[in-house]
Amino acid sequence: MRFSALRLFQEGVTGNRGWGPHWRDPAPKGEYDIVVIGGGGHGLSTAYYLAKEHGLSNVAVLEKGYLGGGNVGRNTTIVRANYFLPGNSEFYSHSLKLWEGLEADLNYNVMHSQRGLINLFHSDGQRDAFARRGNAMENQGDDAELLDRKGVEKYLPYLDFDNVRFPVYGGLLHKRGGTARHDAVAWGYARGASDRGVDLIQNCEVTGIDIAGGKVTGVQTTRGAIKAKKVAIVVAGRSGQVAAMAGMRLPIESHILQAFVTEGLKPVINHVVSFGMGHFYISQSDKGGLVFGGDLDFYPSYAQRGNLPMAEHVMEAAMTLMPAIGKAKVLRSWGGIMDMTPDGSPIIDKTDTEGLFIDCGWCYGGFKAVPGSGFSFAHLIATGEHHAPAARFRLDRFRDGVGLMDEEGTGAQHNLH
Ligand SMILES: Cc1cc2nc3c(=O)[nH]c(=O)nc-3n(C[C@H](O)[C@H](O)[C@H](O)COP(=O)(O)OP(=O)(O)OC[C@H]3O[C@@H](n4cnc5c(N)ncnc54)[C@H](O)[C@@H]3O)c2cc1C
Repeated sequence: MRFSALRLFQEGVTGNRGWGPHWRDPAPKGEYDIVVIGGGGHGLSTAYYLAKEHGLSNVAVLEKGYLGGGNVGRNTTIVRANYFLPGNSEFYSHSLKLWEGLEADLNYNVMHSQRGLINLFHSDGQRDAFARRGNAMENQGDDAELLDRKGVEKYLPYLDFDNVRFPVYGGLLHKRGGTARHDAVAWGYARGASDRGVDLIQNCEVTGIDIAGGKVTGVQTTRGAIKAKKVAIVVAGRSGQVAAMAGMRLPIESHILQAFVTEGLKPVINHVVSFGMGHFYISQSDKGGLVFGGDLDFYPSYAQRGNLPMAEHVMEAAMTLMPAIGKAKVLRSWGGIMDMTPDGSPIIDKTDTEGLFIDCGWCYGGFKAVPGSGFSFAHLIATGEHHAPAARFRLDRFRDGVGLMDEEGTGAQHNLH
């Protein structure tokens, strides 16, 4: 089933009765070459690129719930390539380039909207830090523009520029940053992988990882045992638990991140805006809701819902930056489980068990990484070699401290990244 303007028109005038399911719903086979655990954005994109780039389609994605029911369908949809440190910088740059061709590649409308991202700064010191970051982005080949206060006023006239505590000094504009429709990304990759022969198995929880003689041989699931030559763990907030099935103890803490959405409003916010003096960011969805979020809840948890103190904290930041927002009604809030590493940067690596691979530690920034992570992880699984843009995402950096990428400069405290 291909999508085209003509097909949309035809279906529109004939009652939309011709659309079929977007992916197959097969029963699990007893054996695959590769089993991917986790049907989130990263698991689905990994399966897609295994099939598309490496011709490997005897692959199953095992998802304990439904495809896209995890963080990939819970995030605030921000896509950007404005990282500072080597390692992150080249990876996110590669991922953004994949985003820019994604809709054509998947033949799927993921509503990728490069509406521009503005990181605000509120002091001279912060201006210097953002100027440095902008230079690093340009050195990487990405776009960055330092705005003074007048420059920000032109784009974001609704902010409180003269807030007594946090006046706005300027902002760093990243024009290619923006948003995408999060669950469409999961659906697009699912459809692309399924079309290429990958089996997507929902309601199939992995409960054990089988290892014999130091080599992975398969998995135990709620739908029976499945043999596999290679197994890939891509389960975001559940990484610690699933890796423990293979006897591994990961340097990961699971924390909750909340998001909030208001009632639909007329267009008011054209960009993604990020506050520099508190953890708060906001954009407006195509349906009109203001979508915003802030900091992690301050203790580890596996609950997919947040707590009131952080909701209050986020609303306070919103009111500081944009007092008019007080008139909007918050309709919904939800939480997702973040896989936080001690340096805030991810892991894409082999493990000490032959044939067992891991992709995790995306913290609260893994939506923008979905294309890049899937591409690089598929490369590693298929070839055994690290893909250049993700070559620094090694697990052993947490053992010896060499190659840590502490983008936030906050040290080894998971919840501060
Ligand atoms: C509120 C919020 C806002 C965010 N905002 C942004 C943002 O603006 N930009 C950005 O870049 N990132 C953002 N993120 C982060 C981003 O969503 C995550 O880093 C990313 O989605 C994680 O990868 P994933 O999509 O593969 O995870 P998930 O979608 O969580 O996929 C993991 C899957 O594994 C499955 N699973 C777990 N255990 C098992 C098992 N035993 N067997 C089988 N399956 C299993 C789960 O059910 C789940 O579907 C945000 C996250 C949240 C929660």
